[in-house]
Amino acid sequence: MALPRKAPSEYQLVPTRLQERLPDGKTRCHLCLWRCGLRHGQRGFCQSHVNRHGTLYNLSYGIISAIDIGPVEDKPVKHFRPGTQVMSVGSYGCSFRCGGCHNLEISWGVSALDELARGESTAVYVTPEQLVEAAQRHGVQGIAFTYSEPAVWLEYVLDVSQLAQQAGLYTVYVSNSFVTDESLELMAPYVDVLCSDIKSLRDEFYQEICGAARVEQVLRSIERAHELGIHVETRTNVIPGRNDDRDELERIALWIRDHLGADSPWHVTKFFPAFKLGHVPPTPSESLWAAHDAAREVGLENVYVYDDKGCDCATTNLPVDAYLQGDSGELHAVKKCSASCCGQEGVLLKKYEREAELLVQRPAGGGQRAGKTEPT
Ligand code: SF4
Ligand code: SF4
Repeated sequence: MALPRKAPSEYQLVPTRLQERLPDGKTRCHLCLWRCGLRHGQRGFCQSHVNRHGTLYNLSYGIISAIDIGPVEDKPVKHFRPGTQVMSVGSYGCSFRCGGCHNLEISWGVSALDELARGESTAVYVTPEQLVEAAQRHGVQGIAFTYSEPAVWLEYVLDVSQLAQQAGLYTVYVSNSFVTDESLELMAPYVDVLCSDIKSLRDEFYQEICGAARVEQVLRSIERAHELGIHVETRTNVIPGRNDDRDELERIALWIRDHLGADSPWHVTKFFPAFKLGHVPPTPSESLWAAHDAAREVGLENVYVYDDKGCDCATTNLPVDAYLQGDSGELHAVKKCSASCCGQEGVLLKKYEREAELLVQRPAGGGQRAGKTEPT
């Protein structure tokens, strides 16, 4: 099912690593647990994978939305190579639509991915070799995939992680863990750390941000990563009135203790108002410390409270160009796909999308998915 590829040296659509060809030109993507079933011209919930004539392609391979350098503790990861620095990178696209997301433009990246699909993007393209070289030039010890959801960017994550490993750099995967076992098995030999959200222990919470998600699926994915030998740390962003019930927080701590170990780190972060939850106040310190105390009482040994830190946002970073070599004109040249598979136009999805039926479909596992996704 996994299609082998050679990493491209110029921007192009690359085949989705986990895809299943179905009758009538339909394909199913197995990167994340949406497992979108797509016909020609349709894009997945994440917007970053598209079916073109019966093959799925990733639109965002090598496309970088943000880069930053900082301590690994900021991911947050406390029990893996403490004191080291990581180069954090992200692209565009996410499998969730969280009402309190701070990164909409880059995490969901709907307009950026539309521009790529139309061949009008000036987003920066960086080969895996260039990224690892940039990390080495800046003297960091690791590379973190964050800001957007790395599950929908697995093709690039894998290529970078393999090169990073050869170069002696570790890799961190910051995820919502709505990820298939197949993806985790591909990643496990190359990705060192999973920093995963446990957003809630209630299905209603998950279904509000991703109609297909159930708590059990997310927890199973985290546990599977742990079983595969990936170092796992978990994080819960405590949101007033949404997931700050002491009983629920205690149950999260119990799950971590029983499935990842009593010494497994749990990071409790502060919510800051954003987007649809702009009217919700920041998390009071007492709620964060109540979570800490509940977890310690049930025997979780390493609980970290962040009274000044929310999710791993990228809103204040330097421009991507600041970390890369090459002049700005080259870095931001319009992205025309270098592959020849699209015929004389050399690119574009535009003509295919125009032809395609953008039908609403129901992926495996339930949930509504539209060919063109709007924030919920
Ligand atoms: S949402 Fe998930 S399953 Fe659907 S196309 Fe994107 S990565 Fe694949
Ligand atoms: S908060 Fe994270 S998981 Fe939720 S939409 Fe934003 S990037 Fe995706």
